[in-house]
Amino acid sequence: MVRAQLEERGIRDVRVLAAMSAVPRHEFVPESVRQDAYEDHPLPIGEGQTISQPYIVAAMLEHLALRPTDRVLEVGTGSGYATALLSMLSAEVFSVERYASLAASAEDTLVRLGYGNVKIKVDDGSLGWSEHAPFDAILVSAAAGDVPGALFDQLGEEGRMIIPVGSPVMQELLLITKRDGRREARVLEGCRFVPLVEGDVHR
Ligand code: SAH
Repeated sequence: MVRAQLEERGIRDVRVLAAMSAVPRHEFVPESVRQDAYEDHPLPIGEGQTISQPYIVAAMLEHLALRPTDRVLEVGTGSGYATALLSMLSAEVFSVERYASLAASAEDTLVRLGYGNVKIKVDDGSLGWSEHAPFDAILVSAAAGDVPGALFDQLGEEGRMIIPVGSPVMQELLLITKRDGRREARVLEGCRFVPLVEGDVHR
């Protein structure tokens, strides 16, 4: 997976490649699709949600340029796979998921595998997690119509956010940087994520 899907497509960050080699992706997918865990596509994880394709996870992590001291907010815990990678690449991870069932299963897996620097809560992640702000980096794994204001507010100075922005079926992956309190945006590539659903939460 790391050589054929990541290195060959230009992922170069050695910390990202090492983390992607270390995290056992099969532990984060349901039994029924385990044989496909390392394939080049997303997989269903329940509640109509998916674990993202390995390449797009690596690309997002590379663009976040995480330092070992960073505090990170993740929106859309899903399976907990990207959470585990963030946990290896940063100091502390705060992850928000709107489905209680997914949050519980992700938390079980992360605890069982020993990823200790992670906190998960069930809520609407478009509101961020203000008690723990500001964040050095924010990773949004579901597609928004625009950058939610609360997330930008909770980004620290020089903080980076990766977020897919566009319609429910087609988006652009954006790198947002906060400089002097202002938003700088760079379009990275086309992508397709499940929609970020604002408001109602499934507890
Ligand atoms: N990073 C995850 C990707 C999961 S897909 C993984 O590697 O498995 C996106 C996730 O975002 C889904 O689990 C979905 O339930 C969640 N989501 C959608 N809208 C949300 C919201 N407003 N707040 C928090 N999570 C949300």
